[in-house]
Amino acid sequence: MFMSRRDFVVSTSLAAALGLNAKLAISPAFAQKTPDPAKGFLTYKIGDAEVTALYDGIWEKTHDPAFIINASIDDVKAAMVKAGLPPDFVSIPFTVVVVKNGGKTILCDSGTGGQVQPTAGKMMANMNAAGIDPAKIDTILISHFHPDHIFGLMEKGTNAPVFPNAEIVVSDVEYKFWTDPSVFDRLNEARKGLAKRIQTVFPTWKNIRQVSGEPEVAPGIRFVNAPGHTPGHRAFHLSSGASQLMISNDTAYVPALVVANPGWHGQYDQDAPLAEASRRKLLDRVIADKVLICGYHCPFPGAGMISKDGDGYALTGIKA
Ligand SMILES: [Zn+2]
Repeated sequence: MFMSRRDFVVSTSLAAALGLNAKLAISPAFAQKTPDPAKGFLTYKIGDAEVTALYDGIWEKTHDPAFIINASIDDVKAAMVKAGLPPDFVSIPFTVVVVKNGGKTILCDSGTGGQVQPTAGKMMANMNAAGIDPAKIDTILISHFHPDHIFGLMEKGTNAPVFPNAEIVVSDVEYKFWTDPSVFDRLNEARKGLAKRIQTVFPTWKNIRQVSGEPEVAPGIRFVNAPGHTPGHRAFHLSSGASQLMISNDTAYVPALVVANPGWHGQYDQDAPLAEASRRKLLDRVIADKVLICGYHCPFPGAGMISKDGDGYALTGIKA
């Protein structure tokens, strides 16, 4: 997902221009309607591996006809209601997963770092509450380079590394796409700042490892090719004994919309037909293998089972 802070900035500067107390002036616009989970972390087992879901926050996205290219706002509202969610905005939670397996602690994506939406940035507090020491994270797997997945790697303002001692594993396709000097010719205006930040920061870090294909990238975890959302988007497949978890990341990013309607094309899918093909392939795989799936934007704690439902799919979530 890619989102802008422009509205927030405009509200703040407008308040300043009017001589208002900025906090009071902007708070109604950002009053969060969805309550945060009472406990912002949940630990469960996949074989011998321990998985902890960490809640980072939620984006209550204003409806926009451009968001789903081939569905109307009324269709989107109906899909939200069918999933038991409020119709007046699109619920886009952020949930990061930590896996402890084989003596290693592995962070799957890095959260928003409090730099994407004013209602997100709670991952570190919830990591702390879960008793996970950020300094002891050995490996960080990155699904793709959208802000909500990588800004948690970089301190706000300085870009200093938040996890300097961890190895950061990324798809070589994704890395090459965003660091190519000519990428600016292929990006819309809204994404150029993101590419600039990536090109300013990542090449200066020595702890990024690029990998090709679908190798084992941490104990029991393999990359799974799932391109389309971005060119090098990857899911992560965790296996321990007879148990498996498909960490799907943004393959089916708002399940109320694109699990139920896999043919809907989102504006943040860079290559929407390819994203749809990756989505169907991954959802068919977890049904065939009868394995648990989790997703970065699924309702917290973000894990459940997929089944076929008419022309689409259904997600039955586990409860916190
Ligand atoms: Zn995302």
